[in-house]
Amino acid sequence: MLPFKLIYHDHYDLHLGAHVFPSQKYRLVREQLLAEGIAAPEDFLVPQPATDDDILRVHSQEYVYKLKTGTLSHTEIMRMEVPYSKELMEACWLAAGGSILAGERALEVGWAANIGGGFHHAYPDHGEGFCVIHDVAVATRRLQFDRAIETAMVVDTDVHHGNGTAAIFAGDGTVFTLSIHQENNYPYPKPPSTIDIHLPDGTNDHDYLAILEKNLHKAFHDFSPQILFYIGGADPYREDQLGGLSLTMEGLAQRDALVFDYAKRHKVPVAITLAGGYAQRVADTVRIHINTIVAARDAAQKQAAAETSTH
Ligand SMILES: [Zn+2]
Repeated sequence: MLPFKLIYHDHYDLHLGAHVFPSQKYRLVREQLLAEGIAAPEDFLVPQPATDDDILRVHSQEYVYKLKTGTLSHTEIMRMEVPYSKELMEACWLAAGGSILAGERALEVGWAANIGGGFHHAYPDHGEGFCVIHDVAVATRRLQFDRAIETAMVVDTDVHHGNGTAAIFAGDGTVFTLSIHQENNYPYPKPPSTIDIHLPDGTNDHDYLAILEKNLHKAFHDFSPQILFYIGGADPYREDQLGGLSLTMEGLAQRDALVFDYAKRHKVPVAITLAGGYAQRVADTVRIHINTIVAARDAAQKQAAAETSTH
């Protein structure tokens, strides 16, 4: 049994069929967590979809109207790079609800993970790059609206720059954004995050971890968030079809542990989302996501042990 809740809904699947985005991965992550005894059925919570009010704190009325009525233009759907369907809309609203719930649970017990979400390329007025609704921004705005938090940090380790995140929170002193990504890769342009780490092609574990650590140090020196949203992409993996970095599974697990260690040391609750992953073998993507959950479990257990020993 895990020391925190996992958030998952059967309808997270975007039903994309033979698409490069393996949206069945959410179900596979859940099944594998259960099969390996890392999680028990009672560790999972089922989210409600976000409300339209929640969505509209981030996205424009016109865009939301088009999504709800199926009246996006052909160009707008091409830019999303996922086919429009009612099921897709349901999955997007659910993923946003899942990230809200992850944020709420993280504030209560220190940790939570949405087995979905991390749709960091969605902008207020359009979707792109497989991302329709920016679940992490929706969750951040909801927690701020509820006065549960004032400040948040988004740490995004997907191989692709978090352009939607950067655009949404540009000029907003309450949300600190850090993106570590491959420079020569989608998206273009890359609007500035608070900290952007533009990596050269082929960056390996050693160099990646060193520069990530240096910048996490700076981020937590400059800013004291009340929650950290982690967008943990599986696509910096060296066998990713849409990524050009050279991280190993072990390096990716160390990356997760490093982020969680910084949050833990600064006593910042962590809400995890999964983001991208396009390995040749879907099983590899699933493994990388599972390793993120395991890294969070280990960090949470160490934290609990340290707290017990000091009382
Ligand atoms: Zn990505």
